[in-house]
Amino acid sequence: MKTAGTGFRLAAALAVIIILITGGRPLREHRQFPVEIVCGPGVTEIRPLSHYLPALKDTPADTPVFILRGTETGGAALIMGNTHANEPEGMLAVAIMIENALVEKGTLYLIPFFNRSASLNTRPGEGYPLYFSLLTPWGQKKFRLGNRDASPLDQWPDPDVYIHYPEKQMLSYLDIRNTNRTWPGRRNGLPMEQVTFAAMELLRRERVDMAIDLHGAETMFPVTNCIVAPEKSMRIATLASLTVKSMEGFENHLESSPEKFRGLSHREIGDYSDTLPFLLEAPIPFLDQPTGAKTEQLFLDGRDDFLLSLAGQKKLFVPYDQSGWPLDRRVGQHLSVTLEIIRQFSRKTPERAVVIRNVPRYSEIVTKGTGSYFHHPASAEKDRVVKL
Ligand SMILES: [Zn+2]
Repeated sequence: MKTAGTGFRLAAALAVIIILITGGRPLREHRQFPVEIVCGPGVTEIRPLSHYLPALKDTPADTPVFILRGTETGGAALIMGNTHANEPEGMLAVAIMIENALVEKGTLYLIPFFNRSASLNTRPGEGYPLYFSLLTPWGQKKFRLGNRDASPLDQWPDPDVYIHYPEKQMLSYLDIRNTNRTWPGRRNGLPMEQVTFAAMELLRRERVDMAIDLHGAETMFPVTNCIVAPEKSMRIATLASLTVKSMEGFENHLESSPEKFRGLSHREIGDYSDTLPFLLEAPIPFLDQPTGAKTEQLFLDGRDDFLLSLAGQKKLFVPYDQSGWPLDRRVGQHLSVTLEIIRQFSRKTPERAVVIRNVPRYSEIVTKGTGSYFHHPASAEKDRVVKL
């Protein structure tokens, strides 16, 4: 028999369904939104990461590896963006290389969406925008803003405690979905362990000399605006850091990779392969906790009054003024430091040199803007446009 209570329960159920549909739809659209990258003339092959571990094939964790093989044989470098997809400066730097770089000697392996599942994940609970757009010569180019960890839709449930393989260190349960805690990975592990295992296979099989993992960090965190490197990479990292500081005029310092903190690319790649690892951090004010609203504008220009006040109290680890820390500076830093690491390695080891042309450096990105280096997908040949 129908009662007033039943009517109320029906109305409440209907309200919950409406909230779920209207709240869920933008998240579904975000997950399906394609980011288009136009392959420049330097791209000679595209291969899925699952080439190095077939178990990843046809999963949301698989991701394209863009290969730029030079005309002359030499060494090899792997560059990864979006290990943390809420730090997309690295992805933009790698995408600019895919669209523009020409390799004269050696081979570049470029992975713009290293943790592709994290790029499909969102952070709505903290009010993060779902997208950001860049102004290009042909209009606005829109990108997904992802999260730090792989989506629980792709890897779940999490363990109570994540026990790192093979070092057995106990880490936070969340880090099992963080591809900068799952190195060197495991062939039969969970998807994110398989992503890092496949990348280790790439490094070993392709005899990669350098692996550069591009990140960003809070201005209130000491490990920012720097290169993190283990002992074996430190000589090249030091030369690169000193050169960009003196020649290009932006701050950059060195941090040594702690031996006892496991799972990070700058530690495990060096310990489990012959490759020299480097991890680059650029300051992202948007990631700091004490800021105003997490808007797309804050993400793009890095300007915030709370941070400005904290800078006056010397609470930040980077110089900070009214100009903030715009995206162009962050992307430009990544490109300059990456190019400088490769150049310094190539000078020291000429038989394994990697020689690259046509990639903008810091001052060019700051002057012209990140967006000016992206090509219009509609004007490119269809088979040269990759949807990520
Ligand atoms: Zn990061």
